[in-house]
Amino acid sequence: MTTYTDEHIKQMDHDCVMGTYARLPVVLERGQGPYVWDVNGKKYLDFLAGIAVNVLGHAHPALVAAVQAQAATLMHTSNIFYTIPQPRLAQKLLAISGFDKAFFANSGAEANEAAIKLARKYGKKDGRTDKFRIITAQRSFHGRTMATVTATAQEKYQKPFAPMLTGFDYVPYNDVAALQKAMGPDVCAVMLEPVQGEGGVYPADPAYLQEARALCDANDALLIFDEVQTGIGRTGHWFAFQHYGVTPDVMTLAKALGGGFPIGACLATGAAASVFAAGDHGTTFGGNPLACATALTVLETIEKDGLCTHAQEMGRYFLSKAQSELGAHLKDTRGLGLMMGLELTQPVAKKVLTAALERGLIVNAVGETTLRLLPPLIIEREHCDEAIAILKDVLAEISGSFVTGNS
Ligand SMILES: *Cc1c(COP(=O)(O)O)cnc(C)c1O
Repeated sequence: MTTYTDEHIKQMDHDCVMGTYARLPVVLERGQGPYVWDVNGKKYLDFLAGIAVNVLGHAHPALVAAVQAQAATLMHTSNIFYTIPQPRLAQKLLAISGFDKAFFANSGAEANEAAIKLARKYGKKDGRTDKFRIITAQRSFHGRTMATVTATAQEKYQKPFAPMLTGFDYVPYNDVAALQKAMGPDVCAVMLEPVQGEGGVYPADPAYLQEARALCDANDALLIFDEVQTGIGRTGHWFAFQHYGVTPDVMTLAKALGGGFPIGACLATGAAASVFAAGDHGTTFGGNPLACATALTVLETIEKDGLCTHAQEMGRYFLSKAQSELGAHLKDTRGLGLMMGLELTQPVAKKVLTAALERGLIVNAVGETTLRLLPPLIIEREHCDEAIAILKDVLAEISGSFVTGNS
């Protein structure tokens, strides 16, 4: 067997893979629980979990067993046939969400693409042709396909690919008056993240989501919650909407759903659940037996191990300890469960990320001032303590050099 060195892999990647990712200079090779190791054998505490994906940590025995068993049984058939895992996963998702129907895709963008198409078709009911407007929020993130990048109201993602699709309008997040003003009978959907993730970890105000619900009802528009990042236990409930008591018509999921295996889902309830008919939408891989058997095991394991409640407890513990230990460096802390943002007093988030990585902690930076933490739901207090100790050292060092000007 060939062993690849760090430099060899990086060179091959530069030579052969399109440069769409500004990668960190680390080649990860394996993982176990909340830790990963690079090809040089260096160990890292993973407080990013593949961007909110590896909810059960790395190499969880139940997940490994599920993948192995289903891969050896039936991996793929296409949606021309019924298979056993797909309706089983759908049934489980409906049971934990209270929704009525599921459609399976392969990613968050595709789950949102399905939701957008569903909303556009919903707008055509009663023979209408003018009800196609979709309202999304500034600072949102919904994906990178043409429809979802149009929904993503951030110029940096849209500019190179203009023109965007028609019929999307953007409003400032958490601004009730702006939403009221933008709303009308020609709107087929309002699409929101209950906690904006990529935009900087901003939870919605309860009154904002309540008003969005009321405005959608008054205008016969669908309320879509993008729970691609917030879903599957991340915020301390199965879904973030359950914190707010505001139920959307459509909810999209991906990231954590497969625990690392690629899968997305679009759930709908009420009238929205029967919008799609045979031939309206589809995907070759969507809901394939391997993806669905894996995701079902993720849900069963989260349930069996009480990881939603655990995420609440760990999130509370981490944020209160971060406030007391790192308080001098923090302008604000935000979050819900184990979806956490630490806003720094200085624009050094990227520097902190790099220095933490050197010391064996993986975190993420959103913007110049905010650290985003999305650890696996299986972490314990000792892992929180370990992460905070590293951040404390790093922040002390960086803020020292920042103040004296030698960055
Ligand atoms: C990551 C993310 C997406 C896009 O998911 P992909 O699987 O990368 O396509 C969409 N919406 C939200 C809220 C996300 O966090």
